[in-house]
Amino acid sequence: MDKEKSKVYFTDFRTKANGDSLITKLKRLIKRAGIADLDLEGKFVAIKMHFGELGNLAFLRPNYARAVVDVVKELGGRPFLTDCNTLYPGSRKNALEHLYCAWENGFTPLTVGCPILIGDGLKGTDDVEVPVVGGEYVERAKIGRAVMDADVFISLNHFKGHEMTGFGGAIKNIGMGCGSRAGKCEQHISGRTEVDAELCRGCKRCLAQCANDALVFDEATRKMRVDADHCVGCGRCIAACNFDAIASADYHAPQLLNRKMAEYAKAVINGRPHFHISLVQDISPNCDCHAENDVPILPNIGMFASKDPLALDQACVDACLAATPLPGSQLYDRMHGPDFCDHHDHFTNSTPESEWRSCLEHAEKIGIGSREYELYA
Ligand code: SF4
Ligand code: SF4
Repeated sequence: MDKEKSKVYFTDFRTKANGDSLITKLKRLIKRAGIADLDLEGKFVAIKMHFGELGNLAFLRPNYARAVVDVVKELGGRPFLTDCNTLYPGSRKNALEHLYCAWENGFTPLTVGCPILIGDGLKGTDDVEVPVVGGEYVERAKIGRAVMDADVFISLNHFKGHEMTGFGGAIKNIGMGCGSRAGKCEQHISGRTEVDAELCRGCKRCLAQCANDALVFDEATRKMRVDADHCVGCGRCIAACNFDAIASADYHAPQLLNRKMAEYAKAVINGRPHFHISLVQDISPNCDCHAENDVPILPNIGMFASKDPLALDQACVDACLAATPLPGSQLYDRMHGPDFCDHHDHFTNSTPESEWRSCLEHAEKIGIGSREYELYA
């Protein structure tokens, strides 16, 4: 018997003068995709998103969150926006800084129409251990308590490039994003890094990225090295190095990270109503966790929604792979640089180590959803 395909709904970013706004289009899209099939009446509804690091301007505007909040309220739900704390230095590593960051980036109860709760508490320690049904790498995922206390889970994802996982979409926003600090550490740990002394130029650019005192500069040799006892494998230093001198010490680390992330996502959504929305726009090469955002690598594509986060990611990936890289972007520069090796895949060409397919393959294997989908435009 043929496997049933998941449904993914799509609308582009085109609008006409005096026509519907993008907010109206988004509300219509999520209704067409079946958000009303969830029983939201009186339920606590966690809307997981990323409020953007201070300095980053690629994150989703709060107006989009407001549109989702309004629809949830119309359907009788009690929404709140949520995210969990980060592992690295920056503006979101505890709940106070995280909330100030969200407010500064425009996410306040006034603008989004609901409260904002940091899912894993003040210091990122308020988590719940959730068994991963069918998991191979993680027995019990450590998920932010407020995320797990919600009756219904919605992910509102900014789909863009990512320095470690190739792209960041629904599964990344759910799996990595809902992990507490300990949960993020567990996903990253196989990604402990090392420095290639031949390539290191001693610029110290990576040093400020490490929150764990794991980078040690040797004044004698003028080279950086990684203290493996302190490194948690967060990968921030990899993206910081302009000379490709830092890489994961374990060749399989990207695959392990991708698979663990899928298992964390399974823990978050398993056994409760869930719904997913991805906006494929401002496709920066790196995550919104960066305090800057580079020129988009691909043009804005559109808005997608589905009850299946895996089908949603696959549809967004396919749309991106069919797009033409933008001149002046990191991807374009790499494609036109010396020694370019064409992987015929924009995300691998942008981040060769990412092994992004292993996330989608493993997500399907453990029953998150289907990579087969029908697109309804
Ligand atoms: S950023 Fe790269 S080149 Fe600079 S010190 Fe760190 S490892 Fe060396
Ligand atoms: S050395 Fe790099 S990967 Fe390790 S904890 Fe520091 S920033 Fe993260």
